Formats: sequence, structure tokens, C-alpha cells
Amino acid sequence: MISVEEALEKVLSYVEVLEPERKPILECLGQVLAEGIYSTMDIPPLDNSAMDGYALRAEDTRGAGESSPRYLVVIGEVAAGSLPTIKVRPGTAIRIMTGAPLPEGADAVVRFEDTDEVNRRRSGGDLSQIGILCQAKKGLNIRCRGEDIAKGDLILKKGTVLRPQEIGVLASLGRSTALVIRRPVVAILATGDELVSVDQPLAPGKIYDSNTYTIAAEISRYGGIPKILGIGRDSVRSLTEKINEGLDADMLITSGGVSKGDYDIVKDILAEHGEIGFWTVCMKPGKPLAFGVIKKMEGRKKRKVPHLGLPGNPVSSMVTFEQFARPAILKMMGKKNLAKPTIRAIIENDVENSDGRRLFVRVSVTRHRGQYHASVTGPQGSGILTSMTKANGLAVIPEGSKGAKTGDVVEVQMLDWEEDPRCDEGQAKKVPAVSVVGKSQSGKTMLMEQLIAEFKRRGYKVAALKHSRSGIEIDQPGKDSWRFARAGSDAVLLSSLDKLAFIKNLDHELNIEEIMPVIGSEFDLVLVEGFRKSKIPKIEVHRKELGDDLLCSPEDVSAIVTDGSLDIDIPQFPWGDTVAVADFIEQNFVLKS
Ligand code: AMP
Ligand code: MG
Repeated sequence: MISVEEALEKVLSYVEVLEPERKPILECLGQVLAEGIYSTMDIPPLDNSAMDGYALRAEDTRGAGESSPRYLVVIGEVAAGSLPTIKVRPGTAIRIMTGAPLPEGADAVVRFEDTDEVNRRRSGGDLSQIGILCQAKKGLNIRCRGEDIAKGDLILKKGTVLRPQEIGVLASLGRSTALVIRRPVVAILATGDELVSVDQPLAPGKIYDSNTYTIAAEISRYGGIPKILGIGRDSVRSLTEKINEGLDADMLITSGGVSKGDYDIVKDILAEHGEIGFWTVCMKPGKPLAFGVIKKMEGRKKRKVPHLGLPGNPVSSMVTFEQFARPAILKMMGKKNLAKPTIRAIIENDVENSDGRRLFVRVSVTRHRGQYHASVTGPQGSGILTSMTKANGLAVIPEGSKGAKTGDVVEVQMLDWEEDPRCDEGQAKKVPAVSVVGKSQSGKTMLMEQLIAEFKRRGYKVAALKHSRSGIEIDQPGKDSWRFARAGSDAVLLSSLDKLAFIKNLDHELNIEEIMPVIGSEFDLVLVEGFRKSKIPKIEVHRKELGDDLLCSPEDVSAIVTDGSLDIDIPQFPWGDTVAVADFIEQNFVLKS
């Protein structure tokens, strides 16, 4: 029996992030952006008014108050969407609407409420003049040009999941399309001689095929495109025919035919067409699960279609979909956060775990006074699909435990929260690291500088790590930090108003794995100079004049930056083409991590 984690890791190892496509922004909801979005304009494009009121010179309101109005001559009006044609001169004001561009000469807007406009109107007074009832500071009620977005700013990073607000931002920049990772097409095949399609009459002994619909709806919910293949009968011919119809999809999901009884048919077919693993996964419901790849010729290229064989019981099929198919779909869509949203709740019933597998118990979660409570939705038979309709979560009772007692705190995977709001913080993010190595004087530091600048330009948060054999410069004799270290402290931290340095005294040579946790997970990329013996990917800098050999053995090097050309089969970049080197790092190490 394998664990849920092992099974998931295997499934994920067979699916890849799909390629990007350009499409209208409204069709991109929930998809992952495959390009960085830079602004080509200032938003707002002009200084404009944040209120309905009067544009004026702040200077002209000095000393104004409720009982000491300052009177200005109203010389015009400007509405949103039109441009002012006259200037505000000393002693004058222009009536202005929210969003209208600020007239030249004005440096503040006083809202109607702070003028005598309403009283004037009521008393049938003259509107060619206005009384200002408050003293305005320069900039009052003005939205400055570029205040929201400045031209050239990185607005949305590559990898952003597009929500309504991001789609709005794209529109505000005048973009009607976006480059996003495409949605996976997932083919669905129900298997079983007992199944009848919903549009057919039900003969005795038959049941309606519900799994196709549950699974199709789940695929759509998580962003995929379901392709329904219908019902395959329990015969080699029928199943083979149906499976062939699904091979242009990115993944095939079957339901049924994996429990002991039918085991052999699906197994034989898949064994003939690809690789297959039949697993007993340490979970309940959902113990039997099939997974493999079906090989398919595409022109002269062989393509592998991942196949997930879910159990037939409706609840088992849904629970296993959530554990294995959902993360696979999310990964294909380029999402990083694959975990189900999980909360901790007090369980309101005793739950027995009779055979020690990981139990997924259908529960209804409610919240009282800030505390979640989970109550079991009734009988837990894996054929009882209505118990899923009463549930909004799956309580997870760990394998090997005897179960849970009323009042215990348990983890609950929420079914109705599609995205895990904890995002990056929930799972410790592994920050990709790449090192620049090379002989002394080869130009490592210069390449580091160029790469740092290039990745900053692309909107990444970058950390740079320098390996120095000759000690750390800030650790100078006589300095306080040096005195603390000499007095015996194991680590010394130095902080100023906006910087932090951390020095740890060690009794062994450091390896990069020990350093990465100190750097933390807030960075998108760590660029390392040196550490040529570490296991992180390496870019070697090569200079002709220092010889034709490399410092590292070629199998340890991912790419070479050189001022000559070397006769080895490793990607090579000419000196100075930092953009190409950064593209290589981005494609191979940052986006794939
Ligand atoms: P199997 O895994 O094929 O042995 O199926 C286990 C149970 O799930 C049987 O009772 C089937 O009738 C039921 N079942 C299988 N496929 C479906 C389906 N597509 N819709 C509803 N029930 C199904
Ligand atoms: Mg069956």
C-alpha cells in the first residue's frame, strides 16, 4: 500500500505545465499569466479631480473658513472626459467634476460641500462667483498623473493567477488579450456494463452514469475542459475503442473497473497501450487506484497521455479526484499552489478508523464564535453520493490512528473553497538558486551584476550570495560585531535602520542547503557566485585567454557564457548576451521550480 503523498508525487511527475496561448482577457479567468505585463502609460494619464468641486489655487483660500469665505470668480466648468480650455488665474476658480483633468494653474480642488454653492442656488444667487469655506492645501483632492500605475512599471508578474481584479487591470492598460497557460483538455470515460446514459430509459438492473457528470463538473471547476467519451463496456474491444477517442486530450480519467472484480480488463488494455500502475493507496474511500501513461503516436513522435483510473463508487471517485486529479490539472495550468485549502475544526462526532488507512470523512463545517466545527454528514458508504451534497469539507483522519473522539481537533479539507488562500505561506516555498562559477578573473562578478539587473528589470525579487574563501569583510577586528563573536556568541546580527546582516560562526564548511533557509522564501531567485561543489545548477563563465578547459566537469554545468566557443554539447552564450542567459535561467530553473 502506498501513501497518499507517494501516489500524488507519482501522478504529478507525469504531468507537465502546458504551453501558453493568447486569448481575449475575459476568457482568461483563473488562468496563469505567461508574460510579465508592463505599463505603456501613466494611470491616471493626467492630474485630475477626486471630487466634484472647484479647481483653484490653494494660495487663494488662505484664511478661508465657514465665517470668513474667500470669494473667487467662476470662469468655467470642466466635465470628466473633456479637456479644460482655460487657465485658473489668481482670484478665479473652475467648476470641476470627479475624474476631469485639472486645469492649468490650479493646484487644489475644494468640494462643493466646502463652498457656498448650495446656499447660493437656494437663494437664487449668482453662480458667477463662489464662496470658499475652507483653507485648501496644495494637492487637496487631486489624483496625480501616474499615481496608480507609472509608465514602464511591472504591473502583473508572469505566473500571476488572473482574478477579476487582474482582468480589470489588463483592461485599464488597454489590453484586450493576454498570454496565459492554456487549459488542459481532460477526457472522461465511465466504465461498466451496468451504466446507462442520463438521456436513456433505465432498464432493470441498470443505474445511471453519474461519475461522468461529477468528474466533468470538477474538471470545469478547477479550470480544465472536460471531454466526455461516454460509457465503455466491460470488454476489451469497447474500452480500447473509447480510450482511443480520448488520446488527443492532455489527460484521461476513467472511473470504475479498478476494483478486484474488473481489475483485469482495464489492466490488460492499458498494459498493451502503455505503462500502468495499479495501486492500493492508504486511504478510505478510494483504496484502488490506477495510474499510468498511454503511449500514442503523433506523426512520428511518441506522446504520452497520463491516465488516472478512479474507482467506480461515486464518493470514492470524487474523493480521489480531489486528491489526485485536481492537483494534476492545476499543475498543467501552471499553478504553483496545489494544496487543498485546509482548516482545523472541532469534530462533533466520534469517528472510528477500523483499518488504519487515512480516512476522508464527509463533514459539514460551520463557524461559531471564530471556531470551526465539523459534523459528520451521516452514513459514509462510498456509494452514497448524497452524503457529498450535504458536505462542504472532508475531515482527514490520519492513517495509523484509531480515529477521532468528539471534541478532538481535526484537519478539514474544504471542498467549497477552490483556491488555498494561504498561497505561498502555507507551504514552504522552495526558492530556485543558480550559481555562477568560473576560474579566477573569468568575469563571474560582472555576469552576476548583469543578471541581477536583468532579473530586477523583469520584476523578480532577487537575493545574491557571494562565496568568499577569505573571510567576511564586515567581521573586522575591533568592531562591535567582532567583539561579540570573540566573546563567544554563536551568531551575531547587525542591524541598521534599513539593513540586516547575519553572521553565524560555524565549525564546519557550509553547504548551500544550510544557507537557503536563512535566505528565506520571500525571493523568486537566489543568484550565487561560487559554490562550485554544490548541487545547485551552475552557469560557468569561460574566458579564452584562461584556456580551453572548464573549471567544473561538463556534466555539472547547465550552460556556458564564453568569449570564444567550446566544442562541448552544452548550451553556450556569448559574453554580453545577458538577456539570453537570463531567459535560459528563467525557463529552466525559475519557472519550472
Ligand atoms: P467498479 O469500480 O467498476 O467495480 O464500480 C464500483 C461501484 O461503483 C459499482 O457499484 C458501480 O455500479 C458503481 N459505478 C461505477 N461507475 C459508475 C458511474 N459512472 N456512475 C455511477 N456509479 C458507478
Ligand atoms: Mg465496473
